[in-house]
Amino acid sequence: MQSGTVNPGTSTHCPYCAFQCGMKLGDAGEGPAVSANTDFPVNKGALCIKGWTSTDTLYYPDRLLNPLVRSLAGELLPATWEEAVCAIADAIEATHARYGKNAVGVFGGGSLTNEKSYLLGKFARVALGTSNIDYNGRFCMSSAAAAGIRSLGVDWGLPFPREDIANAETILLAGSNPAVTMPPIMQYFDAQQKNGGNLIVADPRLTDTAEAATLHLRLAPGSDAALVNGLLHILIGQGLIDHEYIAARTEGFESVRGVASTYWPERVERITGIPEAQLLQTAHMLWGIVKRVWSRSSLPGVDRLPGMTPFSWHNGSPPRATA
Ligand code: SF4
Repeated sequence: MQSGTVNPGTSTHCPYCAFQCGMKLGDAGEGPAVSANTDFPVNKGALCIKGWTSTDTLYYPDRLLNPLVRSLAGELLPATWEEAVCAIADAIEATHARYGKNAVGVFGGGSLTNEKSYLLGKFARVALGTSNIDYNGRFCMSSAAAAGIRSLGVDWGLPFPREDIANAETILLAGSNPAVTMPPIMQYFDAQQKNGGNLIVADPRLTDTAEAATLHLRLAPGSDAALVNGLLHILIGQGLIDHEYIAARTEGFESVRGVASTYWPERVERITGIPEAQLLQTAHMLWGIVKRVWSRSSLPGVDRLPGMTPFSWHNGSPPRATA
């Protein structure tokens, strides 16, 4: 598609996921066409198949071109835009009158631009008068957000610029397969490994990301917590922790130590299926010569994720790769 582009056109964003890759939307002579925007700093011209084919939906024969409004009989019938907007306004007014303003909620999407998100927030609070506004990211990252709040008091999301990934000496990706779910970000992991960094992937499957990793920890499904507790056990046992930093910047470490003490390597090997030698290798990679570690996880379950946090702070390194 991009090769047929006659006029590269306007710089814009992919309309899909929250990575918000930059792209150009131009005229291929037969309608809009996508081409790479190599100047955009996040994805540097790379797009996944969803981005490259994002204009295809414009020509899809079943594409809805007019609103459909459900009749009292439950049938979806074509309507004008004015009729559809009036139907929405009537429903909002009726809900307000019956249940109050907070009975109407607004749900945005991770692919909204900053400007659209701002407008949506104003619309919700000022026009609708509701305090109920959320977005889809709350669902797809809800376990990470809840775990971040429980262990750090804040939900950081991604707490650093993507450029930092390339400078990290060791990265632990747990339950995450960005080579498939977000391919344009893989260039940062590729750069990290080219720079001599270690990429450790913990995943029961041999995913594309795991295949590209320095070390693949092929753990049994659902054994993530045992893995991180076992790694902490090794790090604590071998003195690979920064006591001063932990004392000054964290609380509750004794309780973490108590949990980790019950996860000795032989037991963790039995639970996770990861050989003890690989556990030791991972712990030593994570400790590293210089304390720069990034851990990021999309593990299912709030209870498993807080384990990742003391894990990335054990050596005085918050979950950020700093220069
Ligand atoms: S990763 Fe794919 S879907 Fe997400 S913004 Fe980039 S091109 Fe779009």
